Amino acid sequence: MENIEAIYPVGRLDKSLLVVGGNKPMYEFIGKYIYSPLYKMVLEEDVDKLKNAVSCCNLHSGTQAEDVEECLHFINEQGRYDTYLVALRRIRDFDGYEIELQNVSENVRQIGRIGSQVGMLRDYLTVSGNALFSYRPADGWFKLFWMDYEQEVDICDMLFEQWREQAVREKLISEKDREAFDSFCEAVKSGDQEQTYIFRGNMLNRGKSEETYRVKIQPRMYVGQKRVLGVWAVIKKRTGNNADDYAEGNHLDSMTKILNRKGIMEYAEAKVAKGADVAVMMLDIDNFKNVNDTYGHPFGDAVITAVADVIKKVIGSSGVAGRVGGDEFMVILNNSGDELALRNYLRGIKMNVGTLFLDKVGNNKIACSIGVSRNKVDSNDFKELYRIADRALYLAKEKGKNRYIIYKPELHGAFRLSEGDRDLTDIKEAFYAERDLFAFNRSLSDLVLKGSGELTDVLEKMAHVLTVSRARVFWGESRKVIGAYPLSLMEDKYNEACFEREEYVQLFRNDMLQIGNLNALEYSMPEAYHLYREKGVCSVLQHYLRDEEGNRKGFVTVEECSQIRGFPKLAVQIFESMCKVLNAVLLREEKEQKKALDN
Ligand code: GH3
Ligand code: MG
Repeated sequence: MENIEAIYPVGRLDKSLLVVGGNKPMYEFIGKYIYSPLYKMVLEEDVDKLKNAVSCCNLHSGTQAEDVEECLHFINEQGRYDTYLVALRRIRDFDGYEIELQNVSENVRQIGRIGSQVGMLRDYLTVSGNALFSYRPADGWFKLFWMDYEQEVDICDMLFEQWREQAVREKLISEKDREAFDSFCEAVKSGDQEQTYIFRGNMLNRGKSEETYRVKIQPRMYVGQKRVLGVWAVIKKRTGNNADDYAEGNHLDSMTKILNRKGIMEYAEAKVAKGADVAVMMLDIDNFKNVNDTYGHPFGDAVITAVADVIKKVIGSSGVAGRVGGDEFMVILNNSGDELALRNYLRGIKMNVGTLFLDKVGNNKIACSIGVSRNKVDSNDFKELYRIADRALYLAKEKGKNRYIIYKPELHGAFRLSEGDRDLTDIKEAFYAERDLFAFNRSLSDLVLKGSGELTDVLEKMAHVLTVSRARVFWGESRKVIGAYPLSLMEDKYNEACFEREEYVQLFRNDMLQIGNLNALEYSMPEAYHLYREKGVCSVLQHYLRDEEGNRKGFVTVEECSQIRGFPKLAVQIFESMCKVLNAVLLREEKEQKKALDN
């Protein structure tokens, strides 16, 4: 024992785990605990593990004893705990144990750091929304996948040649870009340089509408083995302008370069589901309509972008921000347990927003209101947290704006989902915000007061409430599109003659048609089915508009394009009321026009 020159503490313990001999590091290790058994130094939660190790050791006594190994935390001189790898063994002719300790705290810390870096990189890959691939030249294996936080979601995992053949056979690649695709395949196989290819196809969304892909190849060596890695991005259209082409994928808001609604919602939902200590923050710019009206829309855009920049700067790497709508943002902040830190972030955002464009706006300072809820404090469910944060934001607006409110049930009243609301939250992603509903009602009353000029605004707000992708109003004998959200749909041509066919009309009940799953139409109404499919529609709500005599005169359609879904009862009722109000307004205007013409 005396001649052991170990750098680690090595020593002998008697039966009660008192140190009775050891090298210098051993005595440094025990320090002031020299007269106490080792149990005293071990973290309370680890005491049983140590007892267990001792009894394992005793089991082996008599035989050629093996080391019993355990990982335990021992207190150090600063009163903190270090992690040790402990080896305990019985030795001959001694009624006690020999112990060896190796401090692995630094390794543990490093592994933790690496682990969190890997986690963060996976999060980045997830939020980028791009697919990734890897090709192994050694055996020709090809894997194409999405990253979904911790998991890889395979699109394909097979021999490259097999995949290539299948892509051509199933027409997953546009015939027009076949040449580019072939060059891409050859480049992957030779894997000798970095290259980018652009071609059209539908291999990522299988069968839905055609997309344009930008595929980048990166050959790499790992432990002497070649791998060809790549990023497979979906770009909406090729503009040739780099900035536009890079604002790609479907998770990024192109104006502010932070996540869009879908991106931040998915991120937040996954974070909350993992049980992370996060705060959900909803931020809305105050009186933003005035900013637009006073200084113009382009300046409004600059304000939105500047607010996004402030949020990014203030939260740094402590959170993730997204733009969920016009002047509204959601931020997911880490470590919400530290309320002081949380308040610092909130104050930081509020104060910095207040200094934006001072030379232009003077006393009409840009301001914002913020509502906050906290995971595991207020709820464990993202949808509920979202609605609580939104409720807190609503309160912040009501109390005079330019402030933040961290939701506290004792101050702001209990806020639980009532039974009626359940209907909305049961269905995945079909949640609406209370303020969305408020804004919708406001614009609906504008529609009644000011007329159909407000239609675009109403449709946008309704799309938010119903969480659908598109809304459109057809009116008149020729079923002209008179309002649409998004606006670009005004130009979109629909061959809607099949909507007038008797068998389609039969599907309506009280002027209302609900199709949760479009596949239901595939055989009964193939024409309408294909029409919808072509446009990427998964679920539909439709309502007839009628003239004074009760003849059909148009219809309103809302379409969900990202998923098959049900429409909750309340959503259907909201839609129906909107259609009835709109119908009345359109008839009133028509009458007024006729009167004006007659005069
Ligand atoms: P409040 O303080 O209650 O939030 O009032 P507000 O005037 O800010 O009202 P609200 O948040 O409902 O208004 C949002 C406005 O933002 C409505 C819309 O005209 C405008 N908007 C939405 N998207 C954009 C955009 O991309 N750019 C610009 N400049 N304005 C937008
Ligand atoms: Mg606002």
